[in-house]
Amino acid sequence: MKQFTTISSLTTYLEEPISKGLTIGFVPTMGALHPGHLNLVKRSKLENDLTVCSIFVNPIQFNNASDLAQYPRTLELDLKLLENIRCDVVFTPEGTEMYPEGQENTLDIDFGTLDKVMEGKFRPGHFKGVAIVVEKLLSIVKPSRAYFGKKDYQQLAIIKFMVDKTGMPVKIVPCETIREPDGLAMSSRNVRLTAAERNLAPSIYQALVAVKEQAGQQPIGILKEWAIDKIQENSAMKIEYFEIGDKETLMPVENWDHLDRSVAFIALFLGDVRLIDNIELFS
Ligand code: AMP
Repeated sequence: MKQFTTISSLTTYLEEPISKGLTIGFVPTMGALHPGHLNLVKRSKLENDLTVCSIFVNPIQFNNASDLAQYPRTLELDLKLLENIRCDVVFTPEGTEMYPEGQENTLDIDFGTLDKVMEGKFRPGHFKGVAIVVEKLLSIVKPSRAYFGKKDYQQLAIIKFMVDKTGMPVKIVPCETIREPDGLAMSSRNVRLTAAERNLAPSIYQALVAVKEQAGQQPIGILKEWAIDKIQENSAMKIEYFEIGDKETLMPVENWDHLDRSVAFIALFLGDVRLIDNIELFS
């Protein structure tokens, strides 16, 4: 596996495969890799001639300084994991490489309501930071396909929208959420849970599954209240939002007329750790 830390060395290396018309698959990550990330890399390897993974903890998408400071960083182990699954290229830039001093970080895209609801509401500026870094990375790597997890459903919607608006020639490939055997969605943040919190964590997905089972059978408002109460039965869980929204616009849905487009979303604090998860109610 080749590792690059500068944009110029990476783009020079990619010139040849691009000129030969080889397909490049790209998996952007913030590291602390787990099987959810590795699944994206494996999928990219199946579908492309060359796979590039980036590891960059993007400071401008953190709206909370302590969340950024505490974000797990395990670069040596990440490189081994990528090597083991034969990822071709890893890009590990420093902050100054991505954001040189004096260069302004702007993004001229109006996401409408997409970045105003749920994560957008509770993490102001988060999606602007995500969109800026993904746009930069896509212009550097110039992939044919880029792989994103449905675990971050709203992020995926934002990126699809951005690619659509800017006309970047890349196919965004959504990938299923990979879970622990007990249902907890894999996340780099899970390592920060205490043993007691980790034991409680599967109840998040259990509640989402129960919502899916009951969807269409009782009024949305009642079902939402039931799910919130169920999860917060344990006082360590503090829900930020539990929402049922449209799979594309993400706007809250008021009834079951479009159950075939509805997704349940949750964000909560379990102790100090903020977790998100979702379930498609139609699949
Ligand atoms: P992150 O490193 O958390 O920014 O995530 C990098 C990519 O991995 C994003 O596209 C995430 O949606 C995806 N991802 C993270 N966790 C999972 C998971 N449990 N299952 C599938 N994809 C995931």
